[in-house]
Amino acid sequence: MAGWFARNRRRLGLWLFFLVLAGILLFYVIVPLVVQWGMNRVVEDEAATVSEAGAALHARLALADMHADSLLWRRDLTRRGRIGQADFPRLAEGKFALQVFTAVTKSPRGLNYESNPADSDNITTLAIAQRWPRRTWGSLHQRALYQAEKLREFAARTDGAVAVVTTGPELAQVMARRAAGEAVMAAMLGLEGAHPMEGDLENLKSLYAAGYRTLGLTHFFDNEVGGSAHGLEKGGLTPLGREAVRWAEANGMVIDLAHASVTLIDEVLDMATRPVVVSHTGVKGTCPGNRNLTDDHLRRIAETGGIVGIGFWSGAVCETTVAAIVQAMRYTADLIGVAHVALGSDFDGSVWTPFDAAGTAKLTSALLDAGFTEAEIAQIMGQNTIDFFIETLPRE
Ligand SMILES: [Zn+2]
Repeated sequence: MAGWFARNRRRLGLWLFFLVLAGILLFYVIVPLVVQWGMNRVVEDEAATVSEAGAALHARLALADMHADSLLWRRDLTRRGRIGQADFPRLAEGKFALQVFTAVTKSPRGLNYESNPADSDNITTLAIAQRWPRRTWGSLHQRALYQAEKLREFAARTDGAVAVVTTGPELAQVMARRAAGEAVMAAMLGLEGAHPMEGDLENLKSLYAAGYRTLGLTHFFDNEVGGSAHGLEKGGLTPLGREAVRWAEANGMVIDLAHASVTLIDEVLDMATRPVVVSHTGVKGTCPGNRNLTDDHLRRIAETGGIVGIGFWSGAVCETTVAAIVQAMRYTADLIGVAHVALGSDFDGSVWTPFDAAGTAKLTSALLDAGFTEAEIAQIMGQNTIDFFIETLPRE
């Protein structure tokens, strides 16, 4: 036996080399691709079509969406992808004028909507497999900073076609350029959960400096600032959470109540002096479930002057269909007014959707068929969100 190994050492070495190479390839290339492909899929809705009137209206719209997690994945957003749901070319084709790119920084293993402990994390493996810088492996703060760098780097390669905006006047300027016929889109940065603060208000200031302008307080687990709808305790604001809300409001950072526990939503609304958003959600009126909003919360959010981004996936609207999205929008518009209804796609947020960013004319067409006026559709598809951020973002 020993003699055989000695005689075949070269061949064994070669096999070992190829085995290690295959392992590396599998971990760094195949796994990230397969994970993305499986998690962010378009499930075509055969019942949804685009009418002539729908297409004509859509061509005149300026869309705005409050939530896409595209920065989480190993993709070049300047190129049209075949996997996932959003990148710059597909957003441009879909007539988007504004996309908020949200940073996911921690995701517990065995993720579910009911109850997740905070002691495990899948993003660490994903960060390593996607060859993110080493500084991001052990730091949620660095993961958020890195995703901001990614967005700026992508935008820098578009010859001005994508502008990262952090102020109201910058967003207004992009809209003026579009009105003048330029093919330009605004991109904004948002946080999906305040855990990249790592328990320190100073870190919120550096995230703000990096360009983050919406502050989601919690994601799938309770964190240092408060309770998640999917956490163990589902509590309210911690003292640090109150400090963070106060600091955000004072500096033109918009509070995002997506994924917040019922108590957290109540406590933020009790103290809020500025409008709040829910970047991506469903409404209990059409789809029960603990991540979706009650009528009472919808009314209170509207009272702040806030807007509600209706999600495109089944966790928000209970079906992967265009009709279910329209139904949630109709319900919300009837309850709190069209002026408070917006898009909260959750593109690339590990969800399946009935269309990708390029296919949004299906939604326009379905809203038209459902009896919304052209002016109302323009509001829901983008104008509400654009006006909101021009108004609420810092002046400089
Ligand atoms: Zn989310």
